[in-house]
Amino acid sequence: MATFIKPCEGYLNSLVGYRVDPKTGKPRVMHRGADYTSHTNNNIVASAAGKVRFLDNNPNRTGFGRYLIITHDNGYETLYAHLASINVRLNQRVKQGQKIGVKGTTGKSTGVHLHFEMSKGRWNNRYTTNVNPILWIDDPEIRTVQEVLVQLGFYTGDVDGIHGDGSITAVEKFQKAKGFSAVDGIPGRGTMSVIHKEKDRIIKEEIERVKVIQSKLVKAGYKLKVDGLKGKATTNAIKTVQRATGLKVDGIAGKATDAKLNAIIANLNKPEPPIVKPVPPVQKPKEEEKVESAENKNEIPEWAEKAWEHVEEKRLIRDGRPNDYITRAELAVILARRDGLNV
Ligand SMILES: [Zn+2]
Repeated sequence: MATFIKPCEGYLNSLVGYRVDPKTGKPRVMHRGADYTSHTNNNIVASAAGKVRFLDNNPNRTGFGRYLIITHDNGYETLYAHLASINVRLNQRVKQGQKIGVKGTTGKSTGVHLHFEMSKGRWNNRYTTNVNPILWIDDPEIRTVQEVLVQLGFYTGDVDGIHGDGSITAVEKFQKAKGFSAVDGIPGRGTMSVIHKEKDRIIKEEIERVKVIQSKLVKAGYKLKVDGLKGKATTNAIKTVQRATGLKVDGIAGKATDAKLNAIIANLNKPEPPIVKPVPPVQKPKEEEKVESAENKNEIPEWAEKAWEHVEEKRLIRDGRPNDYITRAELAVILARRDGLNV
């Protein structure tokens, strides 16, 4: 398990760094933690296992309102502030993910949220041990942000759920492109609503794209459901096409695979060659047979005969169709060409 986990549900709406103070309006005030918005589930859990080192159940004594500090086994501490209620006792040992309280808006706060701080070593109010908790946390909301921004070309980093510098810059680019008034790199409620819309649009487009590929695979002879969901059957069919046509076998239907599929479908729609297997030349034919044989021979394309001789000699094809979408003659040509025969 991760060293630290996200302590609650909700979106990030403030990072560690200088910001305009939401309460006083001062332009440049250092914010020492991450803030998470309220959510339908406002429970707060311990980010890692540890011991409750301090708690203050008085909502008005400090700007933190009701808050508590947990000392973790690796020496780090986490602080949870503005709680509506605290569900643990002083010195209680807590497990990672155990409920420790409920989000609130006690102390210096403008609305229900969690203010979450981390310190490397003992927390102190001079902030000499303060670190950025976000760099420790794999946040599913941030994964969504990163996935969408990769698709939209704003982000090229890892989809790891950690809102580090690269991720912040990508969100800033996205906010700028979308004309947001606040370009702050924070995927808060407003940014997330647009991110989720983009995600829905991307998913819909992907379903339509997969449906088109599935329809083509069906035309090429594969038995598939055209449902837009890229399951095992679809992936395997794509891989078979890629393998048979000499493409990189990755199961991803890109432009090259699509072109091959189109070619296969076009080929299938052509009439089959009248004679698939050339008749071997007869050494000493009778007069009548010779005529018949010559007529037959005229109907066999030269390339097919050459390919067949090669393929038969090498015993590359036995009985039966090689697969669902290619004729024996076509495969013979592929195999003969593979062996360097000019057909
Ligand atoms: Zn805060």
